[in-house]
Parts: sequence; C-alpha cells; structure tokens
Amino acid sequence: MNETSAHQRCSLLVKNARIVDGTGSPSTAGDVAVDGDRITGVGDCTGWRADEVIDGSGLALAPGFIDCHTHDDRAVLATPDMAMKVSQGVTTVVAGNCGISLAPFETGHGLPPPFPLLGREENFTFPTVSAYRDRFERTPPALNLALLTGHSSLRVNVMKDDLERAASADELADMQERLRGALRDGAIGLSTGLGYPPAREAPSQEITALASVLREFDRSIYATHMRDEGDHVLEAVEETIETGRAAGVQTVISHHKCAGPKNYGRSTETLAAIAAARAHQRLGLDVYPYTASSTSLLPEYVRESEDVLITYSDPHPDMAGRRLADIADEWDCEPLEAAKRLYPAGAIYFQMDEDDLKRILSSPGAMVGSDGLPGGTKPHPRLWGTFPRVLDRYVRQQKLLDLEDAIHRMTGLTAETFGLRDRGKIAVGAYADLVLFDPETVTDTASFEEPEQPADGISTVFVNGVVVWGGTQPTGERPGRFLTH
Ligand SMILES: [Zn+2]
Repeated sequence: MNETSAHQRCSLLVKNARIVDGTGSPSTAGDVAVDGDRITGVGDCTGWRADEVIDGSGLALAPGFIDCHTHDDRAVLATPDMAMKVSQGVTTVVAGNCGISLAPFETGHGLPPPFPLLGREENFTFPTVSAYRDRFERTPPALNLALLTGHSSLRVNVMKDDLERAASADELADMQERLRGALRDGAIGLSTGLGYPPAREAPSQEITALASVLREFDRSIYATHMRDEGDHVLEAVEETIETGRAAGVQTVISHHKCAGPKNYGRSTETLAAIAAARAHQRLGLDVYPYTASSTSLLPEYVRESEDVLITYSDPHPDMAGRRLADIADEWDCEPLEAAKRLYPAGAIYFQMDEDDLKRILSSPGAMVGSDGLPGGTKPHPRLWGTFPRVLDRYVRQQKLLDLEDAIHRMTGLTAETFGLRDRGKIAVGAYADLVLFDPETVTDTASFEEPEQPADGISTVFVNGVVVWGGTQPTGERPGRFLTH
C-alpha cells in the first residue's frame, strides 16, 4: 500500500457540498473526508473509500458553530442532548459568561442575582473546575464546552454575602489564587458581570488585577458583560479597553448593545472606540441577532425598556409569557412593584435599535453568541434561533453579511479569539465538528410566543466526527469534550 492509498480510507465522506471553511475565504465546491474525530481530506476526494457517504449536493458544509456566549454550564449536564443548540448547528459552547460560572462555586452564602439563571442553590455542587470537569467527562453531552471562570463566582467564594464593596487586598489575593487554580484545571479565561449586584461595587483595579493573572496562561481570555450598557455605555467600553490594555490579554465585550431608547444610535460612538483600540490591542465582541435582551427580572432593566415579557417566575409560574405592564394593571400596582412580587424571575427586555444591531453585527471582530438562557418556561427565542436567524435574516434577506463572512463570525474568528485549537475551520487535521445545511432555506422558527422550536434547514451536525443531529432530532450520541487551552 502506498502513502496515498493509506489516506484514501475514511469513516465519513461528504460529497459535492459548498464548502464554507470558516476562514472567511470564498466558498468552494468539493468533498470533505473524516476519519475518526478529524478531517482527513478537503477538495476532490474521488476514489476515497468511506464507511458512510453523504451527498451534500445543494447544501453548504461549514465548521460547527461555536456559541461563544452561553449560560449552558448546567444545561450540558441536565439536558445532555443539547437539542436547543445542536439543532442550530452549534457544536461548541463557551459557558461561564457574565461573571457567573457553576464552577468554582462554594454554596452557603445565598445566590444573588443573576446566579439563579444557572439553577438553584442545590445545583451548585462544584467547588472546583476539576470537579465540574470530572462530572462533564463522566457523562458527556452531545457538544463540546469550554468554561470561563466567573468573577462574581470568585467574589461569592471569598467575600461570602458581603459583596457591596471592593475586595480587600487579602481577598483579592485569594481570588487571584482561586482563578489560577481554575485555569490550571482547564478554564479558558475570566468573565465579569460588572452591571450585576454581586460585582458592581468592584472597582476597575480589582478587575485588572484578576485579568492580569490570565497572562500567566497561554491564550486565556477576558470576557466582560460591562458595567453599563445604557446611558454610560461609552465609559464602560473605555473601562474595558483600559482593563484589556493594562492586563495585556485578549478581551471580548459580551453581547454588545446600546440599551434604552435614548441611547439608540450610539453604536457609532462605541464601535469607533473599539476600532481605535483594535489597532493596538486584542479586542473583540459578541452579539446576538435580536433587539430584545434577557436576564433576571431586575428594576434597572425594567426602567430602560420599552416593553418587558416575563420568562419565568418562581412565586407566580402562570405569569410566564405575559407582559409586565399587563400584570401590573391586573394587580393594580406599578410595574416595579409587580417585578418585585414576581422575583425570583426572568424577563425579556425590548430595549435595542435594529440599526445598532446591524452596525454591531457587521463590525470588525464581532462574533455571534446566543446568550441563550436555558430553563425558563418561555425563554428568549435566541436560545433556539440565534445562528439560523443570522443566516436567514442578515445574510439571505438583508444581505448585511455574505455567507462566508457570517460563518467566519460563528466559527474561525471565534476559535481564534477564544484560543480553541483545531476548531472552527474545515482543514485537514482539524476536528470534525461540522454542520451541513441548506443556505437557501435555513431559518429560525423560534419566536417570542413559541420560543422552543428547532430551526429549519439544518441537515446534519457532527461533533468530533459523530452525528448528533439528524435533520429533525438529536441522535442520542454524546461525543462532546471539555475543551482546554
Ligand atoms: Zn451578560
């Protein structure tokens, strides 16, 4: 047997597809061969012998989408088929965003907002990242996961329930040491949620001191849900730029937006500041394709919104799916009072402008991330719809992005920014995370009324060479891995 023929056997061959390789380069027609968990051939694979052949005629083949902004820390353990993500073509999620990570977390000091987005206190059973990773690897889900370490999680571990202040020097040293431990255990970086109660009193110096630890670990990243996304969004962008510059690390602005009607249009200012910083430091951002946000039901968000929908309420579960204004009318009280009575609860906030969204989505360094919140009764449709919605609404209908550019922002750019090696591209040697879809019909069907709906047009999804989604349902396979640097 000569060397060539040794390469002509493979476990899977996708033939005659439009290959969108994740780099942003023009797509090409051809075949992709997979053997085991890796891609072994790209281009013309005529004559290759494969255990399984899939006809890709009329379909596009792309690297599996990387959802760089998720809160799937617990979902991968609780709902391991991860239908809401693999049905969109997602093959890797980055969890632990917005300062809250399920690990490392020590319970017993309450669960301040927005921690309930990840589960109840009894679900927080991982004092270390290695305990979480062990559990993940014992019962792996359908897709891969990489984990950020939440700054608010570190704060609760060290400062207990006394969070409305800056950390002391000793507490900061303790948090730095715990962050080092998490990174040694395989976490890929640090996240903050500076707009949320457990972190909003943390000064910039505290964040810079923690982000500076990342420099000790190759490729580690700092992702931030900024201190303000409304009236002071520009100051928050400037704080982020300064933190990233002082720490000297890859930085990502999470779910970038300009919230509240009086800030509509201000993405021209924020994106100009981001572009100027990108000339001399590593700075990216993620964005979801909706003009409504979602998080815990909190008064400051209610104040900045045109309309509010309830996603779940522990004391009033029957209010899920209803407008806060209608509930307040019915209860004959102010919306803020109704919000207080509904808590613990989650909500959807209509508080963004479509032109800002388009400007942000098409800006240099912008990646697609769902920020989906699993677990609510009526979750924001971004949980099931984000990636197909970009491909339908912003590629096919509005032509804001061409297909190659959009896929790059879901794959290659994301893998590069988050330091995920051999992911996010179709190339010989890369992992066989792939999505086969119809670029003419792919579309999100999840709506605010019916949010838990799989997309149309996603044909087959492979994770590490194994089919996890076959057209209309999960296959039950669980080849997901815990990704580290
Ligand atoms: Zn966030």
